[in-house]
Amino acid sequence: MNRNETLFEDAKKFIPGGVNSPVRAFGSVGGVPRFIRCAKGACVWDEDDRSYIDYIGSWGPAIVGHAHPEVIKAVSKAAESGLSFGAPTAGEIEIAKEIIKLVPSVEQVRLVSSGTEATMSAIRLARGFTGRDLIIKFEGCYHGHSDSLLVKAGSGMLTFGTPNSGGVPADFTRNTLVLPYNDCNAISDVFREYGKQIACVIVEPFAGNMNLVRPSTEFMQTLRTITQKHDAILIFDEVMTGFRVALGGAQSLHDIKPDLTTMGKVIGGGMPLAAFGGRADIMAKISPLGDVYQAGTLSGNPIAVTAGLKTLELIQKDGFYENLTQQASKLTQGLQELANKYNIPLLADNVGGMFGIYFGLDKLPQNYQDMQKCDGKLFKKFFHAMLETGVMFAPSPFEAGFVSAAHDNEFINITLERAEKVFSNLQAA
Ligand SMILES: *Cc1c(COP(=O)(O)O)cnc(C)c1O
Repeated sequence: MNRNETLFEDAKKFIPGGVNSPVRAFGSVGGVPRFIRCAKGACVWDEDDRSYIDYIGSWGPAIVGHAHPEVIKAVSKAAESGLSFGAPTAGEIEIAKEIIKLVPSVEQVRLVSSGTEATMSAIRLARGFTGRDLIIKFEGCYHGHSDSLLVKAGSGMLTFGTPNSGGVPADFTRNTLVLPYNDCNAISDVFREYGKQIACVIVEPFAGNMNLVRPSTEFMQTLRTITQKHDAILIFDEVMTGFRVALGGAQSLHDIKPDLTTMGKVIGGGMPLAAFGGRADIMAKISPLGDVYQAGTLSGNPIAVTAGLKTLELIQKDGFYENLTQQASKLTQGLQELANKYNIPLLADNVGGMFGIYFGLDKLPQNYQDMQKCDGKLFKKFFHAMLETGVMFAPSPFEAGFVSAAHDNEFINITLERAEKVFSNLQAA
């Protein structure tokens, strides 16, 4: 057994499934997860000393590349002053100002430690502010693992969600409506029926948790106008897209101002940091100002804030997003051309530094139903063959991929050379 295999066997004895977050277990692709020993720039090294060009990037945060020297230096220096105080710090104001500057729909912001916390709190706030209970989410969008969001669509058009996890009482999901992504009629129908009871609509403004799925302009605009018309809160869950698809997030690309925005991943630069923010009149409802309770022992942690501030500084360098987008496009277009050459049924797409590769679809997916039709077996073969060559994509056909500023032409070209070998073998098989 190699060291990854030994570690996985050992881990399973002490940690359920051997992992602390399920997708890491390679469940949808099979095989043994790589235990990462260290990372630098565009690469990670496993415990068997094999290197990989990494397109997971810690699931998004590593946008400036792993272990960026300036981030590491700032964090090391901050650590010497203490790890956590449970009291306000000057750094929190600095990062709040940065977020508000970069995302104009955000007038006030509260820091938390995970995306799950951010979305859960934003929804509580929307309910508290409107005095309504119903929430709308879209099938295939992921907003963290709080009870009322672990729902799947019920059967029938206007039905309420049912839990898609054990341990979630049906009562907790009874107030969650689940609609298909990109379906404007479904939204209109639901608002016609329940308009006065709907507290909020939460949406990934580019979906990234069912692989990358773009929203139509009409869909985004419908969400904005219909929520406004019914005094419901529009929440953009930008935990993945924030500072990832563009400096101002997905809302800057869609040119739409949501009422509340949730952020995570990139804003912590690899440390546990997330946030929710938006209209000042809504944010005034949160404790200690208002009656909607929310708190966190480690919220605004000084080390996480330092990593976040340095990351936000680095992504504001001239040309950062032009370069990031260009590199992601080189990857997706390169993969597309090679797939065409070898008759592999693959489509690829990217928005900023976020990308999707889809096997077995004849057009880009519009929603979760479309994504279900993708060829999981072919993905699995591609994934493992690429991993063998030293390129690590997300171990699931339903995850988006991420490019960082460290993915220069050389890394992209090596990736494409390796993909060409893999495609030519897949074709032969
Ligand atoms: C990752 C993610 C979350 C959850 O964030 P955690 O930090 O894992 O709790 C929520 N929403 C979206 C859109 C995400 O991509």
